[in-house]
Amino acid sequence: MASSVGEPVSVPIQEAKSKRTQNISLFLHKPHDLRYGEKEPPVLKNQFDVLLAINYTGICGSDIHFWEHGGIGAYNVTSPIVLGHESAGTVVQIGSAVKHLRIGDHVALEPCAPCRRCEACLSGHYNLCPDMIFAASPPYDGTLTGFYIAPADFCHKLPDGVSLQEGALIEPLAVAVHIVRQAEVKPGQSVVIMGAGPVGLLCAAVARVFGASMVLSVDIVDSKLEFAKSFAATHTYKSQPISPEANAAEIREIANLPGGADVVIDASGFELSIRTSFFVIRVGGTYVQGGMGKSDITFPIMALCMKEVTAKGSFRYGSGDYKLAIDLVATGRIDVKRLITGTVPFIEALEAFEEVKGGHAIKILIAGPNEKLNSQRGNDIT
Ligand SMILES: [Zn+2]
Ligand SMILES: [Zn+2]
Repeated sequence: MASSVGEPVSVPIQEAKSKRTQNISLFLHKPHDLRYGEKEPPVLKNQFDVLLAINYTGICGSDIHFWEHGGIGAYNVTSPIVLGHESAGTVVQIGSAVKHLRIGDHVALEPCAPCRRCEACLSGHYNLCPDMIFAASPPYDGTLTGFYIAPADFCHKLPDGVSLQEGALIEPLAVAVHIVRQAEVKPGQSVVIMGAGPVGLLCAAVARVFGASMVLSVDIVDSKLEFAKSFAATHTYKSQPISPEANAAEIREIANLPGGADVVIDASGFELSIRTSFFVIRVGGTYVQGGMGKSDITFPIMALCMKEVTAKGSFRYGSGDYKLAIDLVATGRIDVKRLITGTVPFIEALEAFEEVKGGHAIKILIAGPNEKLNSQRGNDIT
């Protein structure tokens, strides 16, 4: 059956459940309109690419944001796109020039294809490539699909002992690795992390691995803070409906940091958290913006100026971040399995989106449509 470009043939849910199609995919048509659709199976054309069968994909906050609002910042859904970008897959076909992968290998997919020619790419910062092709960033389709083509050098082989489910968690872990590297966390330092969602939790774990002796997680949800304490945080603080200055004073008191924290990471994107951050940080400290919220906010720029704070952004991940993320899991230094609330078959993807939106899960994985699986539930945080 032929379909015009950009117009997937929609498959009603009952049919999707009964029919095992090879490349059924989860398309976002417009806000609140996710539908199963049949996508033309991709064909390998480039000798440096591989074809992956997608095994597991984690639902990200950005997927939820696209679903609810139809866009993020400058990225807007104008024609149906496949969501999903946190994936692990199995190599099913390889291009003739691919040397480091074989058919059957399990890989963590770094879901991007930079141009490799621009100034950002050539300076080693390919994550900042203006011509980046990134999964589930309009107009490019994501990985909630059966088969996906990727450049082989962005498919990172999972060592023995690292499961495909853990492989799907490498993406958010690489985000955290990049953030903590941007923060240049050093042994003995104090780190305050705003937000105890998956990336905030993973930042806490990476900061500990980098030698931070005090890691304080801030959130507004008790259950998330309890989990943070059991996972990596040495201290937690539940943000109160008081001024940023007053919240910051409480944090400094709890953490016994009268002079402020060496490093503050925002993994929340919330204006109030960001404002609080600049009252928590010490003179000469480092601030990293990892969370994505509103495009424009008000924050105490005078504190940044007078404390000579080093402030940096952090966007996705770059050279070496996946490698380190995989190594942290393979060597048992970060147990990403603990973040998996549950794994559901592809036909339950819509329910999984609802569950993540409701805030009752840390990370839910959706099995690829060709993966045989029954629902598995683990760490529900509520
Ligand atoms: Zn993500
Ligand atoms: Zn480039």
